Amino acid sequence: MEPILAAEDISKTYCTPQGRVPALESISFQVSEGEFFCLVGPSGCGKTTLLRILGGLLAPTEGAVYFRGEPLSSPCRQIGFVFQKANLMPWRTVLKNVTLPLEIQGLKATEAQARAQELLKLVGLDGFGRVYPHQLSMGMQQRVALARALVHDPAILLLDEPFASLDALTRERMNLELLRIWEARRKTVVMVTHSIQEAVFLADRVLV
Ligand code: ADP
Ligand code: MG
Repeated sequence: MEPILAAEDISKTYCTPQGRVPALESISFQVSEGEFFCLVGPSGCGKTTLLRILGGLLAPTEGAVYFRGEPLSSPCRQIGFVFQKANLMPWRTVLKNVTLPLEIQGLKATEAQARAQELLKLVGLDGFGRVYPHQLSMGMQQRVALARALVHDPAILLLDEPFASLDALTRERMNLELLRIWEARRKTVVMVTHSIQEAVFLADRVLV
């Protein structure tokens, strides 16, 4: 079977006023459809850089990313992203944060809201649509970010240490929730973490 995502010989060097910073060198791997794939490594080893390249948010210096066999060079709706911080719009309600990508796409408001409601239910935030982000805990804000990432019904979810800033207990619960969602929606997941335990618990395969 063709891999859904393939990284071929990816290198990335940042050019800064202080000089060149090599972040990645000759990284190649493939992710299969439906797989839960974890990237593990110490802080500063290039995990975020790699994930941003996989999502088409950053261009590699060398090499290429292929999504279903096609070269990927810009963000696409088939790939959803959850960052370490939720990055919600503070002036929009929870529901309006989730509908934002659909509004940008030009979908009808009623349809967008129905889809957002369904996703809020999926992430366990049924009834919180009219609340503002500051009224939520960090864990709940990350759930909103997850709902927002799912709103285009992407084939792939890219998660960059999404639960790193949560306390240990909430984090374990969120990991279970994530597995539940992955099973319910059968997404391909690529998740960055620096926790070996988390990677072993969640992933089908771990890249160190
Ligand atoms: P990780 O997510 O594994 O902690 P990063 O991908 O954020 O690692 O960073 C990898 C390396 O690239 C680090 O040395 C970091 O300082 C450097 N780096 C990351 N982003 C930039 C940037 N925008 N400009 C210059 N250097 C960067
Ligand atoms: Mg990082």
